[in-house]
Amino acid sequence: MDLRNIPGSHPGNNSLYIHIPFCQSKCSYCDFYSEPNVSVEIQECVVSGILDEISGYVDVLEINSIETVFIGGGTPSALDAGVFKRLMQGVSERLPHTVREWTIEANPETVTEAFLDTAGEFGCTRLSLGIQSFDDRLLAILGRRAGQKEIFGAIERINKKWKGEVSGDIITGIPSQTQAEANDDITRLLSLRWDHYSMYSLTLEPDTPLFDTIHSGKLEMTPAEILELHWFKTVQLLLGRGYTQYEISNYAKPGFECRHNMRYWTMEPYIGVGPGAVSTLPGKNNTIVRIHNLPSVHGYIQSRQDREKMNHEIVSPKEFLLENLMMGFRLGAGIQKKVFQQRFTVPLDEIVPEMWKTWKKNNMACDADDAWKLTARGRYLLDSLLYEAAEQLRKAGPVKLAFWG
Ligand code: SF4
Repeated sequence: MDLRNIPGSHPGNNSLYIHIPFCQSKCSYCDFYSEPNVSVEIQECVVSGILDEISGYVDVLEINSIETVFIGGGTPSALDAGVFKRLMQGVSERLPHTVREWTIEANPETVTEAFLDTAGEFGCTRLSLGIQSFDDRLLAILGRRAGQKEIFGAIERINKKWKGEVSGDIITGIPSQTQAEANDDITRLLSLRWDHYSMYSLTLEPDTPLFDTIHSGKLEMTPAEILELHWFKTVQLLLGRGYTQYEISNYAKPGFECRHNMRYWTMEPYIGVGPGAVSTLPGKNNTIVRIHNLPSVHGYIQSRQDREKMNHEIVSPKEFLLENLMMGFRLGAGIQKKVFQQRFTVPLDEIVPEMWKTWKKNNMACDADDAWKLTARGRYLLDSLLYEAAEQLRKAGPVKLAFWG
């Protein structure tokens, strides 16, 4: 697709995601696109492609402001120091104005003082550290590269050098993890006194080493009902310390919510660059265009030489509506009625009336003045609720998209 088919100016309404598809090694549970042990030369080529892609979007879409930037992966901190500096300098030179929030993801074993200095020097405001557990036995099950020693080393360097915000990621539901171990991880996390944490429940993905370990019988996944119990107990620990669960897996002190991710959950347009990244933008004639970059380093480098090869699809209004439910119901604040009606002209409880009645009756959903929300249990069971919503939407008439962007 030619970027020129996406109509112009998106002032003040953009965010940028940069995917760095490199890791030092693969974790046992991970099915994200990333490649281990990539040479500095290949890293250079990918960074050149990323900078070129950003220039293309900024020029063709006449972007004059980017509100948030997020560099994720993969492991951005695993980039060679020189390549990382070139990336940061290149991105900051291409951004139209000061960015309100600029997050970078890092893993403990690669958080060096030089990395923190470079990230801060070029404008990063927020660091997201992948801790996942403080327990060496559990970290080994996850195939994490960093053990407890590396994690505490990284925390020490962050405390010494980093001036911006910090968020820490933790995983619960690790096979064989007890409730006491889960509590211990959260207690240690809370002792850091950071303003934001993400707590994910482990999902067993096919085609991962952990999947094979479970299926060979060497380890067992914790039964769903025990996981649910663990989940709600660990959530209570976070809530008890003044954090708000503003999204299913995300907790923040007031004012420290991740603005970039909020834009995904409220279905705002975004630009994604780098191998495997996705952009979702307003297209011509009130359409929604989704552009997919190839999830392959070599395919990406090749595709940068021929921009016509960008894969894209038009997202139908019905698919987009379902995505609005899928993302918006993750939020504690729910789906804002005003925004939803601006997009689809009709209220949600008229589009899926039976569904909404049942959800409310079962204490899974509630109707606030300004928003449609799920209760804590409704959010925990979001997947099954969405399945029912998709079924009802499939049988419903066409959906009209009035305005987006
Ligand atoms: S560091 Fe992150 S992206 Fe890389 S393999 Fe581990 S989980 Fe996947």
